[in-house]
Amino acid sequence: MNIALIAHDKKKELMVDFCIAYSGILKKHKLCATGTTGSLIMEATGLEVDKFLSGAQGGDQQIGARIAYNEIDLVLFFRDPLTPQTYEPSVSSLFKLCDVHNIPLATNVATAEVLIHGLERGDLDWRDIVNPKK
Ligand code: PGA
Repeated sequence: MNIALIAHDKKKELMVDFCIAYSGILKKHKLCATGTTGSLIMEATGLEVDKFLSGAQGGDQQIGARIAYNEIDLVLFFRDPLTPQTYEPSVSSLFKLCDVHNIPLATNVATAEVLIHGLERGDLDWRDIVNPKK
């Protein structure tokens, strides 16, 4: 599965902890992330992550473009709901595209835990039908 990982600044440590905890599952999948989030995950876990630009420079829009092509199977976006983000509209657009394509999306760690266990159990295998991997 293609998994996109994004974390706002105040949630980056949480994202890194999450990836350490679930590296055994994540390593079986193809990971991509916005720039800073991806670097932190790679440093902390040794997982291979395809890095896009940082969120502020449009990295979330690059991921959004892949979502628009239905190429991402799971999005884990740890948002900070209490700090205004200057690029909030592109974040809303990313969420909308997930809904357009029925792409599982977690915006907090509690939902991410459920989805990662579901992924491991095979609950998201239907994504291989709608997004066949070459
Ligand atoms: P970053 O982008 O991982 O490059 O910081 C995420 C964000 O804050 O939108």
